[in-house]
Amino acid sequence: MTEPLDPAAVLADFIERVAHFDPVPEAAPVAVLGVRTALGEATFAVGDHVVRAMCRALASYRDPADRGTCIQCGSRRLDENLHCPECGRLHGILGEVIARHARRVAEAETAPADATTDDAAATDGAAADATFATDGAATVGAAFASIEAGSADAVATADAVGDQRP
Ligand SMILES: [Zn+2]
Repeated sequence: MTEPLDPAAVLADFIERVAHFDPVPEAAPVAVLGVRTALGEATFAVGDHVVRAMCRALASYRDPADRGTCIQCGSRRLDENLHCPECGRLHGILGEVIARHARRVAEAETAPADATTDDAAATDGAAADATFATDGAATVGAAFASIEAGSADAVATADAVGDQRP
């Protein structure tokens, strides 16, 4: 449910909050802004300070649905799980771990196929398979361990800061 907004009232409120800090309040207005909606219309004569503040506010706005760009296909429609519906790529730390593991598994699957002409090489391929599988599991474990370690550090730092208080 979208909450009702009155753009003219929001703009008036913004101008009032920002104009209060204008270092040169007596300067002449540099722009006239007009808003016309179903609720009515309003015009505002605003100074340089307010125009700059408004431009910065608009430039720094980020849509709540904007979760970045897919590094694989460039789509900007990542869902709340950082999953790209266009190409299926999963982003974030878990997505990176899964992608890395999938690459290792794919490499392990292609390696023995190249070596089927030689029995010894085929055996090597099987050994490499086991190594890749172990590596993948170790990578997942290490990634989670580093996340936990990171949290522990943050807690330790917070404690240290707390101890320094008088
Ligand atoms: Zn994608």
